[in-house]
Amino acid sequence: MTMRLSSVRKTFGSHAALDDVSLEIDTGDFFVVLGPSGCGKSTLLRAIAGLEPIDSGDIHLAGTQVAGKGLHQPPEARNVGVVFQSYALWPHMSVRQNVAFPLETAKRAGTYVTARTNNCLETVELTPFADRKPADLSGGQRQRVALARCLAQGAKTVLMDEPLANLDPHLRSAMEAELAEFHKKSGSTTLFITHDQREAMALADKVALMWDGKVLQADTPEGLYDRPVNERVAGFIGRSTILSGEILAVRGERALVSLAGHAVEIPCPQDTEIGMARIIVRPEHVRTTGEDRDLETVVDRVTYRGGFWEANVRLDGQEQAVLVNIPHKAAAGDSLAISIDGGWVLPA
Ligand code: ADP
Ligand code: MG
Repeated sequence: MTMRLSSVRKTFGSHAALDDVSLEIDTGDFFVVLGPSGCGKSTLLRAIAGLEPIDSGDIHLAGTQVAGKGLHQPPEARNVGVVFQSYALWPHMSVRQNVAFPLETAKRAGTYVTARTNNCLETVELTPFADRKPADLSGGQRQRVALARCLAQGAKTVLMDEPLANLDPHLRSAMEAELAEFHKKSGSTTLFITHDQREAMALADKVALMWDGKVLQADTPEGLYDRPVNERVAGFIGRSTILSGEILAVRGERALVSLAGHAVEIPCPQDTEIGMARIIVRPEHVRTTGEDRDLETVVDRVTYRGGFWEANVRLDGQEQAVLVNIPHKAAAGDSLAISIDGGWVLPA
């Protein structure tokens, strides 16, 4: 295991930016920390990099403790590469010199430095700008210099704090693909921070969802999406409706749930008990065509989403309207029969 954080706490005044954070990151993983602005993502990265001393708990990198009671290894002793949201480039150096800098500092051979620098500049599509100064680049281009510099360094552990946040959308997906490719080739362990769940889902082997200084769930993208641990995770990831239903029976990891007087089978955690429960249902779990559509609903609102319509439909006894995708336009007040053939019973 490359990184282990145990009960890490970091406060600023009375505010806990990191509140009992524990994480384990396997060697070679692309690990994404996802969460809204202000939830503590940058503080977490800075704590791992050694830029922020922690109040309590401990941090291990590659089997060595780097932070803990009475211990704070400085950043240069931790052997991690960092790419920040702000670019932190040398203003007096050209793009090429910025990228080559860590290699020259490490006293690598001149031909290697040149080849490696050229290769990394090519990766981030900056070859034509190699002789410019950072001041003569756009924000997105500067971020690509910072990325190229980190790539060049070849650190086995790379920490990235929203490195794509300032890029144009088309360049962003190109860079996502490049990052994924680079990560695969280099075998480095990457901790990548973002507030963008689409980006997190696209890149991650594992995602930790942070909220107000805490890790709510650390899981695979599928685990986070299909089996959220609570309503907050369910609501943050993707589009969903939370329904309440009565669990009538549990067989293995499937529950028979009563919704509006009909029994529906829905995946559930192993320890699910009989009784009232909260259920997450996503649009793809709702059928609006075909047989056995037992649930009668009334259309509340319809929005065109490009190729299909999204409808909010009312189901008897439910506080929230159910989100469904429909292939044809409908009007408020129309009745729509649906069936539900998936979802997730939230843990009690
Ligand atoms: P994120 O990166 O998720 O947006 P941060 O880690 O930057 O969040 O910040 C988490 C919380 O800690 C915020 O409430 C922020 O205002 C506070 N914070 C971060 N750094 C400092 C600091 N140096 N001094 C005081 N408060 C800070
Ligand atoms: Mg941040």
